[in-house]
Amino acid sequence: MSAALKTALDGLLALIYPRRAECMGCGTRAGFERDWLCEECRQALAERWVGAAPPPAGGLIDSAAYGFRYGRPASGLVRNLKYRGVARLAEPMGRQMARAFAALQPAHIDWVTPVPMHIRRARQRSLDHAALLAAEVAGRLELPMVRALTRVRNTPQQARLSDDERLKNLEGAFAVSADVAGKRVLLVDDVCTTGATANACAAELLHTAQCSWRING
Ligand SMILES: [Zn+2]
Repeated sequence: MSAALKTALDGLLALIYPRRAECMGCGTRAGFERDWLCEECRQALAERWVGAAPPPAGGLIDSAAYGFRYGRPASGLVRNLKYRGVARLAEPMGRQMARAFAALQPAHIDWVTPVPMHIRRARQRSLDHAALLAAEVAGRLELPMVRALTRVRNTPQQARLSDDERLKNLEGAFAVSADVAGKRVLLVDDVCTTGATANACAAELLHTAQCSWRING
């Protein structure tokens, strides 16, 4: 089924069977109509707050900030945004990510850049979750969002792979599509596990920046 047809059908189904409000963390439908988290999940999520934390090993990323440690109910939020296409979750999730970033007391940043999704996967899912989050973070930090990276190779999902396989899987997966020389870039993704994806993006950005620096300078 084409993505456009699927979106149209989903829209039609939502009209016929309007989705009842449910907690985006645990799925319960009890006790609330419009909110995105039940009281229990709200408390559990607050306990998972991270803020500033060491960046992934590898020396390519200067500093890092995380909204929440993974696990319920944070995993429920990611699942609903990513696999069920609940786009409205980007707003509260992005708000928390921007708050985490502020805890870093960062140096000057030029751009907010999402970790890119391969176009084929973006079509399958009908939304690009990292770009939605990056747009939200950029808006809150009053910075431009620039899609400085593209995914040139569709890679098997990282979640099912070992650490070594993750690195191998990402070789040549990204390309830089903007003039990044001299820019400080804030990379945004929904989940960071080993940091292999973030490192692969940073490596490509740094490599391109150095090359264009040499050409220009
Ligand atoms: Zn809940």
